[in-house]
Amino acid sequence: MPEQPCGSNGVQMSRIYLDNASSMPVDFRVFEFAKPYLMASHGNPSSLHSVGLEAKQAVEESRRKIAEFIHAENENTIIFTGSATEANNLAVKGTALRNIIQGKAIIASAIEHMSVINPMKEMQKNGFSFTSLSVDSTGVVDLKKLENILTKNTVLTSIMYANNEIGTIEPISEISKIVHEKGKYLHVDAVAAAGRIPIDVQKDGIDLLTLSSNDLYGPQGAGALYVKPGVKIQSVLLGGGQERGLRSGTENVFSIVGMGEAARIAQQEMKQESSRLLPIRDKLIKEILKIDQSYLTGHPSQRLPHHASFRFSYIEGESILLNMDMYDIQVSTGSACSSKTLEPSHVLLAIGLKHEEAHGSMVITLGRSTSMNDVELVSKATNETVQRLRKLSPMSQEWRK
Ligand code: PMP
Repeated sequence: MPEQPCGSNGVQMSRIYLDNASSMPVDFRVFEFAKPYLMASHGNPSSLHSVGLEAKQAVEESRRKIAEFIHAENENTIIFTGSATEANNLAVKGTALRNIIQGKAIIASAIEHMSVINPMKEMQKNGFSFTSLSVDSTGVVDLKKLENILTKNTVLTSIMYANNEIGTIEPISEISKIVHEKGKYLHVDAVAAAGRIPIDVQKDGIDLLTLSSNDLYGPQGAGALYVKPGVKIQSVLLGGGQERGLRSGTENVFSIVGMGEAARIAQQEMKQESSRLLPIRDKLIKEILKIDQSYLTGHPSQRLPHHASFRFSYIEGESILLNMDMYDIQVSTGSACSSKTLEPSHVLLAIGLKHEEAHGSMVITLGRSTSMNDVELVSKATNETVQRLRKLSPMSQEWRK
């Protein structure tokens, strides 16, 4: 059996990896569990012979674990996809198009991931009316406005369980009640929240829900969409008819099996792990906010237990990230998926920050490799980084005058 190359959580020991919202290491237990499906049990689940059947059974077992993880009615509610992006596209386009006869209005919060916002905009080009729902300065959606913009033509409303960039948790049960009074379906992107806070699709009144394997310490290359029994949705990917015809294409068996096992482990360990991370997160926030002109972004209490996000005046997030990397501390600035564009994050603009304020952000997402011992090093490195960058910043020199 190969030795695990890194620390017990798959992260190199000297490194302080605090960018778990962008990518997580695969849990060693998950890798060991799913490994046979890359080799000896490599069958195609659609093949009728015994090797195919072995793969099919493993995929179905994983479906059961995911259904249990989110308290779904049964395993047939889970559609495996190749990523969370694909699940979000399927939710938005598949639901809007299948229910077009009932109305052509769709809503998403202004802080959704681009894999929700961009398909909504594409639907808009195809004749749907798309409304972006505003949030307050802590990132909580405006419930009064939601009530006002919903009509009986609103076939889909998409609000995330929690935001990946600012950590704010949305009041999903309340949102569900409001949506179902006038509109049709509620889709919830739970990528950032799953594995950190409990999710119960039935209690929460959710019609469609997106999950990502890698955000649960599972392998990349798998996502899932929960579709409540009775919810009407159509495929956006046509082919051999896998996944009840909703997502054609040969299943990524290794990643799907890994995702199921990752969800099982997350369900078992979430309570204990979140309680372990909470005081570490709070201490980090306390220490980092001692820096002059530093601010927490997102909600001060209704936030994910592993999430701390900040902004610092007069400096740029990209420089913060690269400076922190010199200490072998990996952090993020805004969304990993769009931070390459150097555009200010749409999430930070939506909570009311000015362009120059939105540029100076740092996002920390703790994980299984994080310990209380990291707090001193991380807060010291952050302080030194901010001071160094401010010395170089023309904006900061103006401010000091
Ligand atoms: N939704 C949220 C909230 C995310 O943070 C991400 C990125 N991890 C996605 C969707 C898309 O995930 P992926 O890029 O793995 O498809």
